[in-house]
Amino acid sequence: MRYCYGPGGTARKLGSRSPCLYAVGAFLVIYTPVMSSYRKCAYCGSVGQLTREHVFSRFFYSRDAKAGYEKVISPVNRHGKEKFVQSELTIADVCSSCNSGFLSHLDQYGAKLYDEFFDVIPKPGDRIKFRYEFDVLARWLLKLAYNAGRMQKEKWLKWPDALGILAEATPYMRAETRPPRNLRL
Ligand SMILES: [Zn+2]
Repeated sequence: MRYCYGPGGTARKLGSRSPCLYAVGAFLVIYTPVMSSYRKCAYCGSVGQLTREHVFSRFFYSRDAKAGYEKVISPVNRHGKEKFVQSELTIADVCSSCNSGFLSHLDQYGAKLYDEFFDVIPKPGDRIKFRYEFDVLARWLLKLAYNAGRMQKEKWLKWPDALGILAEATPYMRAETRPPRNLRL
């Protein structure tokens, strides 16, 4: 499937021969999927071919499907209006190195916690001893929040600094620095 990317990161699906045209001022600019994908990775800043990252880790969907839940309905923002689509939310601003590297490792950790703790309904009186690695869990939660914020920028305008703060925390998410100051779980 080819996608056409317009100003502000809007995307629409293209047929095999459909042109993708956006008028910018007096000019008509033709965006092709290849040209549009040469942007900066949201996590490491490298410029190159970008890939699609699940906004919410893919294992959430696979676990739901396995449990027999019906197809996922996701909210998306198109031209300032919220619509609901029957698809998994993805965002195409992550390089393949980050996507298949640390982001995938964080999702694997999230899936492990999910299976061990989050997908279990305790009975009254059960005692749960929640064991976790602080930094890995914090990094996974931060990347989920950062993904959601980039996906729904319009909604996040209520918190003007939030996306910037999360962007500054990407070196920590990549496990290259110490946690941001005042980080609490
Ligand atoms: Zn990257």
